[in-house]
Amino acid sequence: MPNDVSRILILGGTVEARLLAERLEGDKRFSPLTSLAGVTTTPSQIAGEIRTGGFGGAEGISVFLRQERIALIVDATHPFAAQISANAAKASTQTGVPCLRLERPAWQEEPEDRWTHVTDIEGAARAIPEGARVLVTVGRQEVARFFARRDIHVVARMIEPPDTNAPDNAEVLLARPPFSQQQERTLLEDKRITVLVTKNSGGDATYAKILATRETGLPVIMIARPDKPPLPSASTVNEMMTLLDERLA
Ligand code: NAP
Repeated sequence: MPNDVSRILILGGTVEARLLAERLEGDKRFSPLTSLAGVTTTPSQIAGEIRTGGFGGAEGISVFLRQERIALIVDATHPFAAQISANAAKASTQTGVPCLRLERPAWQEEPEDRWTHVTDIEGAARAIPEGARVLVTVGRQEVARFFARRDIHVVARMIEPPDTNAPDNAEVLLARPPFSQQQERTLLEDKRITVLVTKNSGGDATYAKILATRETGLPVIMIARPDKPPLPSASTVNEMMTLLDERLA
């Protein structure tokens, strides 16, 4: 690789990270290296180099940045992946390698929505009324807390099966987004759902469930995003390209 090519470490696991890798791979000035946690067994195809698995905390990222001669980090992890973002910001401070964030905007509540706002998974599990039929879309890693509520019926939708077996009062639906608003409405009706639990992930791929609850007047328990360290941020790949141009000019 010529010396004037900037090696960019993309912390990935999101659609935005994949789109950024594709854009950088097509731009002669950059060489993208995407890092995945390794939690998904069948990740989507990603342009450029890929590495998989934890780094071993902020120290591990710092070592990696030096070894791989990384010019800049783009933290494009999911808005709810708080630990890796904290580690990346710390490694950036330790090494002087700049870190930028690519993060999709949060969904916004509209006047016709019926959202109960909670700050975490525990709060969401507690907020479900007794006897509810709940659609839970928080991912397989955090579904166990909902399985522990034996006084509700849980329909848990996720991409890959959970580690914990579903109890008798729960069912697991395996499905990969995107979904249409009609598909979401049909699911809510077929399963006689009375409340939806979701993280405020933002983005288009899973927004149809929000539109379906708005259309039907169904209540939503909305889990707020965790705090992440303040960093120069972009919400689209185009905006990120502008930031990169400024930083690496
Ligand atoms: P997390 O809690 O923030 O991170 C836990 C540990 O996993 C980190 O300390 C790190 O291990 C490792 N890790 C996380 N992301 C990594 C990456 N991109 N590359 C290398 N190591 C990574 O993360 P999480 O919430 O479990 O999310 C894991 C991955 O799934 C992320 O890539 C995220 O973008 C994606 N994802 C998460 C969600 C969600 O709701 N949380 C949803 C969709 C996709 P070490 O400390 O050993 O380095």
